Amino acid sequence: MFELPVLTRPPRLKHSFSRISTFAEQCELRYALDAVMPRTPSSPEQARGTHVHAMAEAVARELCREPPSGLTAALEAGAAVAGPIEGDTKDLYLSRLAVFFAAHLPQRGSIEFWVDALRAPDGRDAQKFLARPWCGKVDLVAVDGEGQLICDFKTVSGPRNMKTASQAQRSLQLGSYCLATGQKRAAFVYLHPYHDLTVVKVKFSDGELNKMFDRLVVYCRTAEKRWETGGWSVAPPDHPLCSSKWCPWWSSCGGTGKGVAELVAGL
Ligand code: SF4
Repeated sequence: MFELPVLTRPPRLKHSFSRISTFAEQCELRYALDAVMPRTPSSPEQARGTHVHAMAEAVARELCREPPSGLTAALEAGAAVAGPIEGDTKDLYLSRLAVFFAAHLPQRGSIEFWVDALRAPDGRDAQKFLARPWCGKVDLVAVDGEGQLICDFKTVSGPRNMKTASQAQRSLQLGSYCLATGQKRAAFVYLHPYHDLTVVKVKFSDGELNKMFDRLVVYCRTAEKRWETGGWSVAPPDHPLCSSKWCPWWSSCGGTGKGVAELVAGL
């Protein structure tokens, strides 16, 4: 069980790319708990995901240095932050990253955006609609045969947890990355030691990005309302991420929200 903190004042939260997709696509309550409490992995799967992500970020960072490190040096830098991932598995993850970087030229690694203005292609500015600003971190900007690609590394337990191309095309996370950077192309880069690397790429039209902007504004305004009034909903019972493996709040919440939702009610 995690220690429940006493929260006495409203958190001045910013909207973030990943948080709003948790809110919209997974669980409102998890979004709220993640936002106000320190989050530590509570299962070996979550810990592995954290380390694999750190490994991928470290490799990308090295490759984007001026002058850039070579791939071998970058993979060594990744291995150094791999934490307790055992040797063979670590090597398999690193070989997946090597495959990815053979086809994608890294341009900028791990960029933090503190975005005052998230703009739709038709010129609308999110700050006119929202009470809170936006922030977030893009894992990598790479270049492939078609141009710039905004990338998000994901660790998955298997192919069933990867988004299909049509699901990725509706992803708020990829859409908000493109709205924030002014780019049209983005990708989920799925890393798994025992499956081939999977890169799910999407390309948004202006019309799709305008619609994505509308959806983001609706979800962000709903989240802002919840911070005022409470009433967070929980994940549907069959949601694959609502489990002891993947939700850090499972031991207290158990998928019911009972005894936990009150913590973030009306903050
Ligand atoms: S256990 Fe399920 S319902 Fe509870 S916070 Fe996590 S995802 Fe939401």
